[in-house]
Amino acid sequence: MIVHQIPVGPMQNFSYVVEDESTHETIVIDPSWDLDKIICIIDEQNLQPKYIVNTHWHDDHTRGNDELAKMLSVKIVQHEASTLQHDMTVKNGDSIKFGCSELVVYHTPGHSKDSICLVGDGKIFSVILFLLETVEELICLEVVQMNFITACLMYCTTWMIIL
Ligand SMILES: [Zn+2]
Repeated sequence: MIVHQIPVGPMQNFSYVVEDESTHETIVIDPSWDLDKIICIIDEQNLQPKYIVNTHWHDDHTRGNDELAKMLSVKIVQHEASTLQHDMTVKNGDSIKFGCSELVVYHTPGHSKDSICLVGDGKIFSVILFLLETVEELICLEVVQMNFITACLMYCTTWMIIL
């Protein structure tokens, strides 16, 4: 799994282009602003987009959905609790498959009722806030520093955590 992290917009957000390296099937996580940056990576790397996946419904993570879905001819995937327009629904425990890669969906309501974490290949994509138990678990794994948690609390961007 190859991850392209793309800084976008005026609110310190990230969009992600996540690629299955063996097939080049690709998902785009949280397209909002600067869609040209996403298109540029897809074209340069000759990627095969399959889905747009949103970590939650907020506008700064979804405002690029419709335009990008039309440009790429892909389906929009959201948690079943989302009230936004989407094509496919996921729930806790589902897998999003692209090529030989997959990300498992964890429903983590807290930041919003439809918030999900996407977990796979030693990575977590999430708009933090984690539930306390989960943060403690991560601290046990020694992958989260306090300044990282503070940063996550300050900014509602989508983070990729490497386990
Ligand atoms: Zn949000």
